[in-house]
Amino acid sequence: MPETIHLLLDTADPEADDLRRGLDDLLQNNGSLVFRFHNVSTEGLSVEWQEMILAEKRKLTPEQLDLIEPEELHDASFNLSMNSLPPPKSVLSWDNLFRFIEQTHAMLDIPGEELVILLTPCANENNWFSSFRSNAASEGFVQTTDWEFFVRAPRWFPVAHQIWTLILQLKGFGSLRNTLRYAHKSAVGCLNDFCEQKSDIHIKLRTADICDACLEVMLRRDLTQELLAAATPALEKIRLQSKFLQQRFAEAEASPLFIDEKGVLHFENYQQLSCRLAPVEKALYLFFLLHPEGTRLNELSDYKQEILDLYLCIRNQDISTASEVVRNLVNPLNNSINEKISRINAKLEQLLCLPGRYEHYQITHTSGTYAIPLFPEKIRLHARWDLTSLSK
Ligand SMILES: [Zn+2]
Repeated sequence: MPETIHLLLDTADPEADDLRRGLDDLLQNNGSLVFRFHNVSTEGLSVEWQEMILAEKRKLTPEQLDLIEPEELHDASFNLSMNSLPPPKSVLSWDNLFRFIEQTHAMLDIPGEELVILLTPCANENNWFSSFRSNAASEGFVQTTDWEFFVRAPRWFPVAHQIWTLILQLKGFGSLRNTLRYAHKSAVGCLNDFCEQKSDIHIKLRTADICDACLEVMLRRDLTQELLAAATPALEKIRLQSKFLQQRFAEAEASPLFIDEKGVLHFENYQQLSCRLAPVEKALYLFFLLHPEGTRLNELSDYKQEILDLYLCIRNQDISTASEVVRNLVNPLNNSINEKISRINAKLEQLLCLPGRYEHYQITHTSGTYAIPLFPEKIRLHARWDLTSLSK
């Protein structure tokens, strides 16, 4: 029986859908673990105060972390120093955050022992990127914003890393108090290392291992070999892909691009990075891949049926709703097409980081004709996207 991890996706984040699509790829479901998303909103929570987020993580108060000696906490930082400050934002108290998670846990009828993790754009009073309770409880949170100030990679990489770390620590140590007791004050390349220099989160992102000493403690508690077997390749993938994204120079040659049967883009020579677009964006991108000669945007309505066929393969929607979506998209009188192209290009830029990389895949225009400049021999499509089979 696979174990379920419940992720509460805070819709106060306007880009929650993109985050979820990014996380889908890094939190692969497998035999022993299933991730289940629930949409929630923290918008009703009372905001304690608004202020500039401090560069330093705050120490916890004794009430927040009873029984831990203050000197033990001195360097207990899972956060980062900031080169430039993120904009001010609402700050929630830990009390409020944990009460919200606890209430949602009960309201959704999730069994008490199953892990529930809130993914929220809100900052918190101690300025931590993630945490869980000082006492044993199967609940934690991860802040999903501000990562771009510290890490050159889309935010779902550090967020997924924090989620995996939380899961392993919650299972292996049970509480924040116990985790801090075993954490390494000097880095040893273990997931339980402190980030003493807060800007070292990019180093943390490259950590995919648990040291033998921690492992022994964690396996004696609730960390199972099955869970470890699920987490290890996932963390390794995050490690390799993040390391790749930190490179400062683009490769001499563009990676081949494979589009799988769900319309997900896979960059085969870029550490298998993948890009999940929204359904209508997928249909549009596939259309341009299938038409390397390109097209003028005001001629796109000639291909309405073809784009609709692609869209219906991606999204299981009734035909009248789908037709409306595609009609809007190809209507030369509204701006939908420009917005979609901009969003696709922005997502490719966000994922691939370097112009020498993402420019090969973006939809670009020369003298009014829009096309993807990637050489056709670099493009491989799943058989599902064969034009001749689409209209059947
Ligand atoms: Zn360790």
